[in-house]
Order: sequence, then C-alpha cells, then structure tokens
Amino acid sequence: MSIDNKTALIVGAGIAGSSLAFQLAKRDYQVTLLDDNNHDEIEIFFNKAVEVSPHFMLNNTSYNALMTKASKFSYQLIKDFNFSKKDSLMDGVVKLYEENESEKLIEKVASLDIEKSAFKYLQKEIIKKKYRIDDKAGIYFKYGGWVSPKKLCSTLIKHKNIKFIPKSKCC
Ligand SMILES: Cc1cc2nc3c(=O)[nH]c(=O)nc-3n(C[C@H](O)[C@H](O)[C@H](O)COP(=O)(O)OP(=O)(O)OC[C@H]3O[C@@H](n4cnc5c(N)ncnc54)[C@H](O)[C@@H]3O)c2cc1C
Repeated sequence: MSIDNKTALIVGAGIAGSSLAFQLAKRDYQVTLLDDNNHDEIEIFFNKAVEVSPHFMLNNTSYNALMTKASKFSYQLIKDFNFSKKDSLMDGVVKLYEENESEKLIEKVASLDIEKSAFKYLQKEIIKKKYRIDDKAGIYFKYGGWVSPKKLCSTLIKHKNIKFIPKSKCC
C-alpha cells in the first residue's frame, strides 16, 4: 500500500479515539474522526482531571505488565506535550490499599520488568504522617499523574493529518 492510501475512520473523539487518531496521524495516515457531540460536549471533558496510573491485580501478571507499560507510555506522551501546571501534573501517584493487600501487591510490582526507582512502598505510618489518612498503606508510582482530558484530546487532534467532524453520529 502506498502512503497516499493510508486512511482511517475513527468513531468517538474521547481519550481512546483521540489517542488512536494521533498515533495513526503520526504514522502518515489521513484520519477522519467523528463524534456525535461538539468537542466541548464530550462527557469526559466535564472532568477537570483524569488520573494516569497503573491499575494492578493480585493474580494476573500479564495484566500488570501491560498496565505498567501503558501507564509509562501515557506518562511520557503527556510529559512531552509540556502542559502548564493548570492542565497537568505528572509527578507520580500514590495509590492507597489495605495494609495486607499493599504488601502482596508490592511483591507483584517488584517482579515486573520496571526499574526499582519507578515505585516505592509507603508504610501505614508514612501515609498517616504525610496525608493524615488512617489505616492505609500505599504504593508510589513515578509514572503517573493527572491531566485535563479536554486539553489532552484537543492537543492530540490538532495534528495536521486529522480531520475532526463534530455532531456526526455514526450508526
Ligand atoms: C466521572 C468519571 C471519572 C473518570 N475518571 C477517570 C480517570 O481518572 N482515569 C481514567 O483513566 N478513566 C476515568 N474515567 C473513565 C473514563 O471515562 C474513560 O477512561 C475514558 O473516558 C474512556 O475513553 P473513551 O475514549 O474510551 O470513551 P468516551 O470518553 O466515552 O468517548 C467515546 C466518545 O464516542 C462518542 N460516540 C459514541 N458513540 C458514537 C456514535 N455512534 N457516533 C459518533 N460518536 C459516538 C461519544 O460522544 C464520546 O465522545 C472516568 C469516568 C467518569 C464517568
């Protein structure tokens, strides 16, 4: 297939659709992106911030490995946009768990293919002292933070190879 033939139609300009549109556009696809709302009316954009962090399960190593990669990928993508602090802060995330769950999880996380400085176990006493929250331990993840979904998506779809058509319902 020649580069000129690379076209894609994506339905939905939320985080998934906008991210896919951006990744394809970077690879020289001409992308048409539809949403049945205007850009300002997309539901997730009413949220000021979405959290970026890995979600782990105790008994699923493949899932945990995928989550770790996905979180690191999103972290880097958002960092590279260099948004102002009003729109994003990618300084890591602390996730709170029950103490025994936290101890089991940290063992699973430690076995993943990720550098040791990317996470840290935070004992109950530290969480209490730092955040005044009782009876929770935590794990700090370096590759996390928050971003304004509206800012992120509107930046992603600015790519010259993306044509966004609002108010167009597909199917
Ligand atoms: C209150 C709240 C808080 C959340 N916080 C977080 C968070 O912190 N972190 C996180 O990762 N996730 C969070 N989520 C989950 C979040 O909604 C999803 O991660 C994210 O929005 C999923 O993106 P998406 O692009 O898959 O879907 P959506 O954001 O739902 O986007 C789908 C888009 O497709 C359009 N569409 C659907 N059907 C059609 C059609 N037939 N024709 C044309 N357009 C169509 C819709 O208008 C919509 O704009 C939160 C959800 C809610 C409700």
